[in-house]
Amino acid sequence: MLLVSMRDARAAEVRAVEALLRSHAEVAARVPDGAGVTLLARSSNGELAPVAERIGRMPGVARVARIDSRYVLSAREAAPGRTAVRVDEGLEVGGREFVVIAGPCSVESGPQMRATARAVAGAGARALRGGAFKPRTSPFSFQGLGEEGLAILADVRRETGLAVVSELLGPRSLEAVDATVDVIQVGMRNALNYSLLKELGRLPSRRPVLLKCGIGTSLDEFLCAADYVLAGGNPNVILCLRGTVGFSQESRCALNLVDIPALRARTHLPIVVDPSHAAGRWEFVPAVAASALVAGADGLLVEVHHDPAAALSDADQSLKPSRFHRMMHRLSLLAPVLGRTIADLTTPVCDPEGHPMGDLCLEAPTAGLQPSCVAAATTAREACHGE
Ligand code: PEP
Ligand code: MN
Repeated sequence: MLLVSMRDARAAEVRAVEALLRSHAEVAARVPDGAGVTLLARSSNGELAPVAERIGRMPGVARVARIDSRYVLSAREAAPGRTAVRVDEGLEVGGREFVVIAGPCSVESGPQMRATARAVAGAGARALRGGAFKPRTSPFSFQGLGEEGLAILADVRRETGLAVVSELLGPRSLEAVDATVDVIQVGMRNALNYSLLKELGRLPSRRPVLLKCGIGTSLDEFLCAADYVLAGGNPNVILCLRGTVGFSQESRCALNLVDIPALRARTHLPIVVDPSHAAGRWEFVPAVAASALVAGADGLLVEVHHDPAAALSDADQSLKPSRFHRMMHRLSLLAPVLGRTIADLTTPVCDPEGHPMGDLCLEAPTAGLQPSCVAAATTAREACHGE
């Protein structure tokens, strides 16, 4: 396939390129790209190289690439470098920062989300996860609070300033989920739901999509699934590896660490890892998380519950806040060695009103902080060390 990217091109420039392309090839797709378009063309008769060369010199053309894989828009050759997806004003995934998204498997109540949000934010999480609509293996298990869960997420988002990530199960809740969250999660059960992926591609909000890899999906199929979103004109796709079927009795799924650099070699899109669903047991989560950082992932999606024993879903794999905090501390020591930044754990994090969040237990320097932050940091440190 020949890819011609005409980002921010004038209509006349696009027309000229398209006319030349059509005389040598079949235009397979026109993908909205900023103020311009990306054209995908396959050869109708003979070699595309000479026409590709001519098109590369035409005004308005940003990039021409020959891509031979089944996935095209997510392919590494489709972009000049790595793509970073902007989640909100202060947060992007795929840049230098190793971004940790944490929170419970399910939204269960306002107090549960508030307690967990404050704990994870205080420990360096940059966004909050929590499912309002839950895909459960048994129809008799807790299915999530639905719209009520979205309302809780909206409140906690406003109160803490944290970006929120939540799963979309089907088209019926698309509008409500799009209106509430900063990132729409597509779970492993919907990983190859092409009609849903097409809808996400066409979203006028271009809401970022965190696309999980299916449990029996190859990397090739995974990137083709990402292409379904990209082909609609939504360029904001974050890939998430969460393990596939395996033979081990020790973990819930099999996360092949090789998939991280292998995916990196194939795509320009950001890659995060979900160590919780891969491991299935909280004891193994920190080791998988650290391995993901070392192997080159751009961040984590990790399950944390303020009281895991009481969690309505995925209790066994949910970290409690103090263990999450310890894991973040270790990751913060590791990240600089690998040339990555990570949230600064030595400075208490405050909500938009200046109130401190989290159970800080590091020797935080307190000079220059608001008095309320200093007091909270001291109390939390004492509580944590006393544990
Ligand atoms: C989840 O993140 O809670 C979830 C259901 O994930 P997955 O789709 O990977 O099973
Ligand atoms: Mn879960």
